[in-house]
Amino acid sequence: MDLSPHVDGAGTCALCATADTADARYCRHAVAGLEQRRHCSEAIAATLGYCASHAELIETADEQSEFAALYAAAAARLVDRFEREPDFTRTAVFDAQHACPACQWRDRHVGREAHRWLALAGTGLTWPPLCIDHLHTAIGIAPQGALQPLLAQQGEQLRGCADIARVAGSPRSARRWRARMCRLLAERRFEQVADLFDAPALCPVCGWIAQTIERWIDSVRTAVRIGADGETVFPLCAGHVWIAADECGDAAAAIAAHAAAAVCRSLAAGLQAIQRDERADAEARASVWYRRRSPAYVLGQWRRGALRMPACLPCLLAATALEFAVEAVVDVLGSTRQRGRLERGHGLCMKHFAYAALLAPRGSARDALIAMQTEKLRALAGQRSAAVSAHVRAESELPAGSPGPGTALSHLSAAA
Ligand SMILES: [Zn+2]
Ligand SMILES: [Zn+2]
Ligand SMILES: [Zn+2]
Ligand SMILES: [Zn+2]
Repeated sequence: MDLSPHVDGAGTCALCATADTADARYCRHAVAGLEQRRHCSEAIAATLGYCASHAELIETADEQSEFAALYAAAAARLVDRFEREPDFTRTAVFDAQHACPACQWRDRHVGREAHRWLALAGTGLTWPPLCIDHLHTAIGIAPQGALQPLLAQQGEQLRGCADIARVAGSPRSARRWRARMCRLLAERRFEQVADLFDAPALCPVCGWIAQTIERWIDSVRTAVRIGADGETVFPLCAGHVWIAADECGDAAAAIAAHAAAAVCRSLAAGLQAIQRDERADAEARASVWYRRRSPAYVLGQWRRGALRMPACLPCLLAATALEFAVEAVVDVLGSTRQRGRLERGHGLCMKHFAYAALLAPRGSARDALIAMQTEKLRALAGQRSAAVSAHVRAESELPAGSPGPGTALSHLSAAA
């Protein structure tokens, strides 16, 4: 196998290295000039805030006061959207699902690097070893002729692998994600979602998801302690592989091997499906009725089938916890007492507000939810009037009386 000279035998993923470099530069880039700051506050408002990993990155960065001003500007933009777009709360859930501004910046860099590797692969060099998440990136851009060699080569490299850095790439993003969950939960446990309604520093939905992940980690620990093979609890995405491995150090190799085996099975199945499709097409050519399929359609089918991983258990649990907690919030909107608790507490982060607003029944319950969120955002925007926000210019100034960057970030990011 002709490995590129760029690989140097290093075990970790080349695209993870690019992602880490982009992350390290993000905060300075976002506040580097007036234009960037304006763009950044627009992006925060458009995506309803940061993901947990990037929120943690920002919270530990040097540029705290600059970001505090950006959150205030983003909050003002959101208040403005509430007032000017009557349908905003019906469609906000799509904004909430977008990659966060820092993820978008990182993914642009990773995409460029992936295309550079693709060009090198075309000149006879093969891809460097990729982690399970970045395999999707490579498959997503590989042209028809490069797809089979890519699947075969990566499957070959991962077979029998128990090296966690090789399988799951860089741990940095996952460790920031976990650090945020731990700090916000602070080892507290809750019996029901309602116990989180008046929590002062945590969105109840974020808190419930974080607790669900803690419970999953407990189940991984139990599986490791009793010597079970972990088949039913071990994770399959890079982030959760690192989180589980960091918590259950002794089992890191077993967790990595489990994920690697799943990827290998999936790559082999993808490769077989492509070969079956090629054989079927070759046989069909003999027929007078043969009609050539669109190459774009064939490539799309091949890529979709190339890496069909089984669902990652903690990812599934987090999605279910989100749904359960949002429903619990929506259910009590009719109760003045419970709504009062939500008002007194931290309230929903913008991303989870978007889900709640979609589910809340039309009428007084939804109106109350929107009023509550607008009030929180107004406080974040610091007395800046909504009318001014359309021409936010002074992103570099800290508005008087606005809450600190930590509070603003917890409203404009998810914690889990
Ligand atoms: Zn990677
Ligand atoms: Zn992000
Ligand atoms: Zn939340
Ligand atoms: Zn996962």
